[in-house]
Amino acid sequence: MSLTQRIKQKAYDLGFDLIGIAPAERAPHAEAYRRWLTHNYQADMQWLARDPQRREDPRCVVDGAQAVVVVGLSYFRLDPPGDLWRDPARGRIARYAWGLDYHDVILPRLRALGDFIEQETGRPLRQRSYIDTGPILERDFAAQAGLGFIGKNTLLISPKLGSYLFLGEILVDLDLEIDPPASDGGATCRVSLPGQAKRLGTCGRCTRCLDICPTHAFPAPYILDSRRCIAYLTIELRGLIPPELRPLLKNWIFGCDECQEICPWVRRYSHPSGADFLRYDPDWVAPKLLDLLALDEAGFRARFKGTPLQRTKRRGLLRNVAVALGNWGSPAALPALEPALQDPEPLIREHAAWAIGRIRDQV
Ligand code: SF4
Repeated sequence: MSLTQRIKQKAYDLGFDLIGIAPAERAPHAEAYRRWLTHNYQADMQWLARDPQRREDPRCVVDGAQAVVVVGLSYFRLDPPGDLWRDPARGRIARYAWGLDYHDVILPRLRALGDFIEQETGRPLRQRSYIDTGPILERDFAAQAGLGFIGKNTLLISPKLGSYLFLGEILVDLDLEIDPPASDGGATCRVSLPGQAKRLGTCGRCTRCLDICPTHAFPAPYILDSRRCIAYLTIELRGLIPPELRPLLKNWIFGCDECQEICPWVRRYSHPSGADFLRYDPDWVAPKLLDLLALDEAGFRARFKGTPLQRTKRRGLLRNVAVALGNWGSPAALPALEPALQDPEPLIREHAAWAIGRIRDQV
């Protein structure tokens, strides 16, 4: 086996589902990324606008980089029972957060792959490993490495596994066999699957994700306005959720999967992940909103330690929970919301007041 083949085999042995290698060159969508920034579509995520040249070109991150090793790991899990998933008294959590923090699990595996490459090469390498932790247009490089195509919802879609994928990259100063670009720069790709003819991966005329987005966060295909994206509003936004968007969040309290759930590629080709750090506990993935609103700081830490939900902190999660309770619209939520008006966190107090007003308007 060649070095590249051994690296790929090692990636599979480490549990990754996909691996490909892209050239360490300027990303094909670098110009589109610059245009995206001019619209301020990155919202308050200013790190996305910092030093764009580094994000576009791996050679600005790793001196002498020649290859970007891209791995993918599916996190697809089946829906919880419908009576839980559609219950407005419960919150919904995006699938990627149905378990332990993936950074803690996947980054060590990626670093193990980096160590393997160095051992096999027999010389010290300049390399960097990222799981959405560093400056790289990861979907562009994943498409370049043949992992899939970029859908109109801006996500990387693997024709083998759909789009519920964690992506990771190793930027390395090593001459590896580059995978032939399966993609035409993002929107279509051809893949060969065992026992099947070559399949064209593309969105074609489909616009389901654009049409279903509750907050109309796609001003055009392949462009996401983060300022309206539920994932941004419920996770990355630190302050007030714009009041006009709150009713559109429904009961999403941490992220959103609507543009993936609807996608025909996801529906047809996703199959449940074997990743053991994702858990399938209905009370975890669709928790009762009233239970969450009752959490104090210690209770929040005990429940969410080591999970992606730590990112919002208690004040962010309970802000989202208050919005979801307002959207539930049931007077049964009032006895829990009224004490939240005295919460030490102004953010929670403001959203609890909004929820109370919304419920009272509906009864
Ligand atoms: Fe493409 Fe349709 Fe999937 Fe959106 S829902 S990413 S348009 S195939």
